[in-house]
Amino acid sequence: MKELLKKIPVPFKGEIIDRKENCKICGEKKGMQIGRVDYWDITSSNLIKCTLCRLVQLDPMLTEEETAKGCLAYYIEESLRVTKESQGKDLVRNFRRGVLFASSLKRKDFHPKEILELGPGSGYFSEGIKFIYPDVNVTVMDVNNEVLAFNKQQHGFATVQSTPEKYISNLENKFDLIVARDILEHVTDVAEVIQHANKYLKANGLFHFITPNGHEDVWKHYLTFNHRNKNSELLINHVNYFDGKGLLDLLARNQFSPVEYYTYNFKTTRRGRGWKVSPKQMAPLSTKKSSDFYIKNEISKVREIHFDKKEVLNKWYIQNKIKFITRLMSWYHHSQFIRLSPELNVGHEIYGLFKKIK
Ligand SMILES: [Zn+2]
Repeated sequence: MKELLKKIPVPFKGEIIDRKENCKICGEKKGMQIGRVDYWDITSSNLIKCTLCRLVQLDPMLTEEETAKGCLAYYIEESLRVTKESQGKDLVRNFRRGVLFASSLKRKDFHPKEILELGPGSGYFSEGIKFIYPDVNVTVMDVNNEVLAFNKQQHGFATVQSTPEKYISNLENKFDLIVARDILEHVTDVAEVIQHANKYLKANGLFHFITPNGHEDVWKHYLTFNHRNKNSELLINHVNYFDGKGLLDLLARNQFSPVEYYTYNFKTTRRGRGWKVSPKQMAPLSTKKSSDFYIKNEISKVREIHFDKKEVLNKWYIQNKIKFITRLMSWYHHSQFIRLSPELNVGHEIYGLFKKIK
């Protein structure tokens, strides 16, 4: 393993160029160009790795309007591609992950009362937390009203329609726990989002996130740029690609100290992400996929999918009377046995649990 880790990840090489916008994290004016992407047919950006803070970002960053348009097109494209059955399975998976996460907090003797989840998706992760802490109050924040309506209807969660980049003073000092799963890679100003999380938390509050390991996530775009010298296709708005050390430093600067910080899932690494140069690892060349095609023509094909929560969670092992079996099954399905330091920049995903220290 150690021998392998000497060779991977393979560091990026590229030209140092002037940025169009300064680095959002540290203000640096130059950076290393490691890719060039087309976000649908909406806009084109460079992928720039900051040599100071190590964060890779789109330059220029997407605007709010561009993000909204691309996200809608992606939502339609995805709804037509993913079946109801697999969506239903995802709900149960997220529920179990919530159960596992909350059980781990309980073992740490942490007892949250107020939780905020940013970008909750189906809300089943927080519902899993509620299974372990039945008295907890959950608030969810999203920009999309359909997501909020779903969360309210399924789980009765309180809702806030906003983006995490906007500061809402009403939320100051209100929460014991903030959850941001698969959110940080999407936000246009991650430093601000982390600052806000700190302010929304009470003293000693916890911040939990998962986010892709940026080195592996951006590898495909790097290869396409470096070996084909062409723009690659970006359909889902990953606008930040995190370096394990860079993300840790950013959190530390915002008064967060790590409780748990690790990467997991190394299937992608074994297959070559982050180090192997092969056509298979490259991102598809951009075709400037038409966002209007989905927004104008395909939207009528999207059917609203209804889920009955009782049916979704109707599993033999999900019962209030036998919570230890629910916990055991959640652990069986989702616990991560191999964990490495994110600073190694290998593995598919980064898991973070951080404590507010000030
Ligand atoms: Zn920077």
